[in-house]
Parts: sequence; structure tokens; C-alpha cells
Amino acid sequence: MAASAITGVGINLGLSSSTMRPSRAHSVTMAVSVDEKTKKNLTLRKSEEAFAAAKELMPGGVNSPVRAFKSVGGQPIVIDSVKGSRMWDIDGNEYIDYVGSWGPAIIGHADDEVLAALAETMKKGTSFGAPCLLENILAQMVISAVPSIEMVRFVNSGTEACMGVLRLARAFTGKEKLIKFEGCYHGHADPFLVKAGSGVATLGLPDSPGVPRAATFETLTAPFNDSAAVESLFESNKGEIAAVILEPVVGNSGFIPPKPDFLNFLRRITKENNSLLVFDEVMTGFRLSYGGAQEYFGIIPDLTTLGKIIGGGLPVGAYGGRRDIMEMVAPAGPMYQAGTLSGNPLAMTAGIHTLKRIKEPGTYEYLDKITGQLVQGIIDAGKKAGHAICGGHISGMFGFFFTEGPVHNFGDAKKSDTAKFARFYWGMLAEGVYLAPSQFEAGFTSLAHTSDDIEKTIAAAEKVFREI
Ligand SMILES: *Cc1c(COP(=O)(O)O)cnc(C)c1O
Repeated sequence: MAASAITGVGINLGLSSSTMRPSRAHSVTMAVSVDEKTKKNLTLRKSEEAFAAAKELMPGGVNSPVRAFKSVGGQPIVIDSVKGSRMWDIDGNEYIDYVGSWGPAIIGHADDEVLAALAETMKKGTSFGAPCLLENILAQMVISAVPSIEMVRFVNSGTEACMGVLRLARAFTGKEKLIKFEGCYHGHADPFLVKAGSGVATLGLPDSPGVPRAATFETLTAPFNDSAAVESLFESNKGEIAAVILEPVVGNSGFIPPKPDFLNFLRRITKENNSLLVFDEVMTGFRLSYGGAQEYFGIIPDLTTLGKIIGGGLPVGAYGGRRDIMEMVAPAGPMYQAGTLSGNPLAMTAGIHTLKRIKEPGTYEYLDKITGQLVQGIIDAGKKAGHAICGGHISGMFGFFFTEGPVHNFGDAKKSDTAKFARFYWGMLAEGVYLAPSQFEAGFTSLAHTSDDIEKTIAAAEKVFREI
């Protein structure tokens, strides 16, 4: 594993009176003007028309902010179809895809077996609102795979999983405070929108209006990889901390691995203080290894959230953990949480067939090999052309930053040259490579990516690095 780290200032999402007003300032923006020549090989006329129409219909033209391309300038390409490692936009351009629908597509897009299984399931209906056997099957697979999970509750998104797990941690401990890390994203529920990453980081929003002070009052934050900061939060909030939640490998402010002793330290200090350790593995679950980050690093949290891969491209989230904690969840226990479409047969089917495939031997060795080649190739190309760049990967998750590094937290990450990233981004797109449209998002490979894909991508990077 070639570890990298980013630096910089965690965006300050603390509420202030000026951010409580709706204001145009929030709708922007690190938009960068893109040199027209970097777009020269792309015909995007249909995408441009479709997005112009979309902006009249949906806020910002999208249903999730990072998709709008604000941090790389220009406007998004509109996708028509996906297959394997590739995607095609509505103008007919083909791309090698390193976003993978933000993580779920670990076996490649539109896998034939998954599609066939979905078609079979669909014949029996799309939703029962009652128990189905497929829930047992996926639950059993998740419990066997993830070391900390003895019981699991399925929900419909990672956001819901994190909302549920927070309520559960508070219910179980009888405490209310939460420690999270700057640049870690745990979905868009109010208590987590403090120094969050992902879209919030990308857009440079100081905060989100509409989040009441009371909702984040119990949320404490520390820089990632900073044990001393966590220690002092425990010191000054004695007996009040319900849980520490983190992305064990950060993916929502770029790719940032934990320092060697950091996870161990968090396991120890939460135990000593009767607080719960929660790994948000919505991204890293089944991504770093079949048992997630907890298996990869050998650190077992009390509770875990999952999403993305376990839905195989359909909307799913889950939270799980020790049986004694999970039995607090209704209707086994008093902590309420529910969902009309939770555990629906289509999502369970896509999850089951995706997990079946990645459980086969060699999955993570293959992902690690091609992803290592990719990241090393990009870094070498960048350095050769005289650019400051650092990066790393674990299995099929990777990232690189346009800074010397090392990057150990969001503050380090923010030293990146985001204007240069925008030029690189459009250059790569013109070469047929689709990366996450932000410096502060991790990338993903899949079992469908071939050595040829990787070589083509590195060759594209060599060319683009010379031009920017
Ligand atoms: C994607 C993500 C979420 C949110 O999941 P959604 O399905 O988008 O609601 C939460 N936590 C982490 C670590 C994520 O990567």
C-alpha cells in the first residue's frame, strides 16, 4: 500500500449567523474556468442541452451535488449507458470509468449475472413490504463476512445507515455526544453536517443552512489521524461521549489512510471510556477486503455501517454490530427505526449476486494489482512532467492529490492545486477517462478493468500532464 495523505484546513461547517440565511453564496463555488482546448476532442452538444434543461427542472440540474462538476468547472456529461469498465454519454463518447457509481460497481457495471438475477426476481414483484427470503440470505452473507457484525438491519442508503447507528449508539450508551473527523462524510443527516467531506468539501460550503444549532450541538470534531485531539475531547467531555465514528480509510476528502496506530488508539480509548467505536464502512466495506477495513486492519469496531457495494447498484444501506447492541433496535428493542422499502427484493438480489462474485478467490489481489499500477503510473507521469503529486491505494480504492504531501488529514488535502486538477480532469475526459469530478473524492477500480484499461489511462495521463 502506497499511503498518501493530504493537508489543509478542514472546512469549517460550524454554524454562524451569517450562514443561517439563505444566500447565493452557498450555491457556489470553486468553479474554475476551463481552457477550451482541453475540451477539444469532445463533442458534448447533447449533454449540454440536456443539462441546461435539467437545471430548470432540478436544483443545480442534479440529484446529488458533486455530479454537477462545479469543482472542475464546465458542466457534467449526461450518461446513456454503462457496461463493465466503460460508460457512454448521450453524445456517444466512450469513457473508462473510475467512479463506479461512487463505489458500488466493484464487479463492473451492468454485470450479466446480476442483470439476469434481477430479471428473475422482478417477475415475482418489486416490493413486498413484508419479510422475504432474500433478506435472510444477504443478512447471512454480511454477518459471515464482516467481523463486527452479529446482527444487521437493512435500510435504503448510507445516510439512513449512519442516522440509525447514531441513534443506536446513543440509546445503548445513554450518552449523547459524538466525535467525528474533519473531512469524513457520514451522509447528509443534520448531526453529521459538521466538517463533512464529499459534496460539502468539494463545494467549499462553510456550512449548510437549515441545520439547526441544536442538531450539531453534540457533535465534536477532530482532525483525522490526530490522537491527541481525540484524547483531549474525551478529557473535556468525560462520561458524555456515546461514540466515535469515522471512515477507517477516508474516501470523502480524497483517499487518506489511517496512520499505523490510529485505529488501535481509537479502539483503546473508546473501550476505556465506555463509548462505542463505529466504523462507517459505507465506502470501504467489501471494497478494501471482503470483511472491509476492519478485516484489513484487524481492528473490530462495536458497530459498522455499510452501503454502496452491498446494494450492487441498487439503493441499500445497513448497520450492524454486536448482538447485545443490535437487540436494542425495534421491534426487538425500544430504539425506533423503520423503512417502507427496506430489504426490498431487488436490492437484496443485486447485493447477493455482487457479494457472491467478489467472494471468489483472487478478487482483492487483482484489484490491488491493477490499482497499484494505475496510481503509480499516474504519479510517475505527473512527476516526470514536473508536477507536485502524491497518492495511494488499498485494493480497489485510490486517490491522488496535486500537492507534494504527505496527506494525513483534510487540512493536508486542501493544499492541493485544485485549478490544476480541473485542467487535468478535462484533459483526461477528452482522452476518454472518467474520474471523479473533484480533487476530494476517492476513485475506484473494478474486476472489469483490464491491464489494457490501466495502460490506456496512464498513457492519457502522460499526455495530459505534459499539456497542463
Ligand atoms: C457514500 C457514503 C455515505 C452516504 O451514503 P448514501 O447512500 O449516499 O446516503 C456515508 N458514509 C460514507 C463513508 C460514504 O462513502
